[in-house]
Amino acid sequence: MSPAGQDVWVHVEHLKGRVAGHTYELLGKGREIADALAGRLIAVLVGSGVRPLAETLAADGVLYVEDAGLAEYTPGSHAAVMRALVEKEAPRAVLFGATSMGMDLASVLAAALERPLIVNCVNLQVRDGRTVATCQMCGGKLLCEAEASGPVVVTVMPGSFPAEAGLAKSPPPVEAVPMPATLETVGMRAIRLLEPEPGDVDITKSAVLVAVGRGIQRQDNIPLAEELAGALGGTVCASRPVVDQGWLPMSRQVGKSGMMVKPKLYLALGISGAPEHAEGMKDSDLIIAVNSDAKAPIFDIADYGIVIDMYDLLPALTQALQGRKA
Ligand SMILES: Cc1cc2nc3c(=O)[nH]c(=O)nc-3n(C[C@H](O)[C@H](O)[C@H](O)COP(=O)(O)OP(=O)(O)OC[C@H]3O[C@@H](n4cnc5c(N)ncnc54)[C@H](O)[C@@H]3O)c2cc1C
Repeated sequence: MSPAGQDVWVHVEHLKGRVAGHTYELLGKGREIADALAGRLIAVLVGSGVRPLAETLAADGVLYVEDAGLAEYTPGSHAAVMRALVEKEAPRAVLFGATSMGMDLASVLAAALERPLIVNCVNLQVRDGRTVATCQMCGGKLLCEAEASGPVVVTVMPGSFPAEAGLAKSPPPVEAVPMPATLETVGMRAIRLLEPEPGDVDITKSAVLVAVGRGIQRQDNIPLAEELAGALGGTVCASRPVVDQGWLPMSRQVGKSGMMVKPKLYLALGISGAPEHAEGMKDSDLIIAVNSDAKAPIFDIADYGIVIDMYDLLPALTQALQGRKA
């Protein structure tokens, strides 16, 4: 058996009885890293009554910690458990999703154990025995490389790797670990899960979304996008700044703190493509981006891109589409 010190651990994120999709992406990539380090790939599942989720995880083993006090996620309780496990087993790398939950846990764990923390990673490899991560900076405008020769904690951007390799073909061995930490000392408890109101329209059900970002500039301009959406038989949605301004309701927000959408067409108007936005729409069947900045990161995930001032395009495009219908 390989020494535990070379093992790669993947934190299994789950909510409402479902494993978050990016966990499978981490397991797929984690397998490559574990093989390169000659270690094992271990999934770490923490919660209450979520043992069946372990069966879907492609790993050499699953460490399962079960306790009623872990039923609702709080950073304090789940980090206390992760910390106790990592302290005992000393894996080489611990991978988390770069999500609200993963960022919470990874930062607390790295600080508590004085391990280096590499964040917003979009690629990961082993080079000469070192863990090398390519990471996004400045909302995805810059990429940097960070490397660690010893134990490390890493957060990985969802959508960076394919998920298929992380889905188990047969159930992995599961080790039920007795509760390794005391939760009494943790001064935080979950009261309830707040989810965005579906509101007037459920944008997750729309096949065509016309998304507006800060580039729309003024609330008065939103009807231009609504007209275009009408001509396409779609719905208007938005990036967070537009919602923060109160120009559209929260129910229309796409991204990390909004809705996850997967329409047939996602037309992004004046949206830069920050990771928090991309997280909610990158799996759309077809992405068309309109942006005046040729270097906007949205073009990295778009199938088609148009570098143009949207106001030179919108009225003519709407007119052409309306004309086609007439
Ligand atoms: C914890 C956390 C959660 C977050 N959650 C979300 C979330 O759920 N959803 C979300 O969207 N963001 C979220 N954000 C914010 C996110 O980081 C970005 O700030 C946001 O997505 C940027 O929105 P934007 O692209 O509209 O604006 P900007 O980044 O300002 O981009 C505006 C774009 O418009 C272009 N533009 C300007 N004028 C024109 C024109 N006339 N024609 C064409 N293009 C033009 C510019 O070139 C630019 O690329 C979150 C951030 C944090 C920290």
